[in-house]
Order: sequence, then structure tokens, then C-alpha cells
Amino acid sequence: MATLLDQVTELENKIKNHDAYGTSYKWSPRDFELGKALGQGKFGHVHVAREKKTQFLVAIKALFKSQIVGSKCERQVLREIEIQSHLKHPNILRLLTWFHDERRIYLVLEFAAGGELYKHLTNAPCGRFPERTAARYIYQVADAVDYCHQHHVIHRDIKPENILVSSDGDLKLADFGWSVHAPSERRKTMCGTLDYLPPEMIKREVYDVSVDHWCIGVLLYEFLVGKPPFESEGQSSTYTRILTLDMTYPKYVPEGAKDLISKLLRQSSKERLPLEGVKNHFWVQKFRN
Ligand code: AMP
Repeated sequence: MATLLDQVTELENKIKNHDAYGTSYKWSPRDFELGKALGQGKFGHVHVAREKKTQFLVAIKALFKSQIVGSKCERQVLREIEIQSHLKHPNILRLLTWFHDERRIYLVLEFAAGGELYKHLTNAPCGRFPERTAARYIYQVADAVDYCHQHHVIHRDIKPENILVSSDGDLKLADFGWSVHAPSERRKTMCGTLDYLPPEMIKREVYDVSVDHWCIGVLLYEFLVGKPPFESEGQSSTYTRILTLDMTYPKYVPEGAKDLISKLLRQSSKERLPLEGVKNHFWVQKFRN
């Protein structure tokens, strides 16, 4: 069986290591000055770093190959690299380039100075975003996810923890660890976070891009209420609430937002509002500018 080193080299040749500068320069850790730690991921640390020649600020995620192999996540990591290196959208975290040595894979990512969206939500007054912010954010997420779908990629794990914020306050969809290229064949794998799981994934039915539409509905609810709509004590009661659409809106949720959420949180995936409809929804448009 091919080692992870062989697999990474193969992927490298496939993508040809073309980076944001349009060259196939061989980057190495020596090209960067490492700054403070930004966070801890599953397979290693994330640091802010400065590219020595241009002084350009980036985030470098160093993944230990031994840990990837140890947890049998080779395919997931390689898929994440391959998918993210092809996606170029203002609201998707750019993978600028990547390289590897004996022990580590280094991902050179766009630096999102605002950090995790989850923290912004927790720190907001009453733990929820004002209507205007929620509408602007949901437009950006819908636009990013629409772009993914146009490139045949389903994200499958949209939630505040997987979204970062730029220095300008714009959202950057990240964490493509669970995303899949969506060929015509639809998938049955169960993944993602409990509170955000769409009914068809709980029922282990085939699903398609519209799992992401459901998650955008859950996300908008969480933006405005501060917690997801089907949150419960245990896993099985969360499942039951999702499958029976057992949810209520606090009084302060605006009518326009309720209308949009209800058009996304539909049991039947075919009935969910298309993303173009989300972006053009009257409540989103009212607050866009
Ligand atoms: P991850 O391994 O992607 O979950 O990253 C771990 C943590 O590092 C995240 O939760 C963020 O707080 C931080 N982080 C990751 N990537 C970036 C980035 N591009 N810009 C800023 N912070 C980041």
C-alpha cells in the first residue's frame, strides 16, 4: 500500500503545487517567520506567519503525518487539501499553497485576523447577532456555498465553528474536512455535527447538495437566537426533534428571518429554497448594504 508520503507526492504532482502567485516554486518552512499560535487543530498547531520576501501575513497549519496515519484520516486530509486548493471565492478561506517534509504537511492559508465566528457569536450582546449582521453573514455563507455547489463540492459541515472572520469583518468558510466532491452519484455517509444534521442524513438516506441548504437554515437560527433550533440534552432527543421539525421561534426573531428559515428547514430536500433564492430573499436584501 502507498505510504502517506507517496500519496501526498502524488497529489502534489496532480495539483502541481501551483500557488497564489501562479508559480510552481517549492516553498519550505524557511520562507516564513513563525508568529504566535492561533489555535490547535486535530493534527497540529496553527500559527500566524509572515512570508519573508513579501512580508505577507498568512496562517500556517502544520499537520503531523504520523498523527494523520495513526487516526486513519489520510483520505480526509488529502481530500481537504485537494478541494480547498481549487476553491477561490472571497468568502472561502484560501489555501494559498502547501508543502511537506518527512514529518509534516504545511498548509499555507489566508490569515483570518478576526478568528472564529463562534467566538464573535458568544461575545455578542445576549449571545446573538443583530438582524443586520445575521442577514449580511447569511448572504456571504449562501454565496460561498453556492460557489462550492457550482464546483460540485458539498461542504456537509457548515456551523459557526467552521467559519472564520477576516480583518474586514467578512466571513471565510473553512474546514473542508468533511466536504466531498459531489459527482452525479449521491452519498450515504453520515457526518457533520449533531445539531446541524439534516433529516435525510439521520435516516441514512441518499442525499445531495441540499444538505447544505438545511445547515444554512440552522445557522441563521443560531445567529439570531444564540443556539441551534433542535438543541436537546441527548442525541436521540435531538434526532427526534429534527425528524419532527420540533422547533419554536422566540418572539424577537423577525418575521422576514422566520420566513427564510422556514423555507430552508424543510423535511423534503427538494422543497428547500435554492441558494439564489436565499441571496435574493427580501429579508436578506433589506439588510445587505
Ligand atoms: P483548525 O485545525 O482548522 O480547526 O484550526 C484550529 C484553530 O486555529 C481554529 O479554530 C482557529 O481559531 C485557528 N485558525 C485556523 N486557521 C486560521 C486562519 N486561517 N486564520 C486565523 N485563525 C485560524
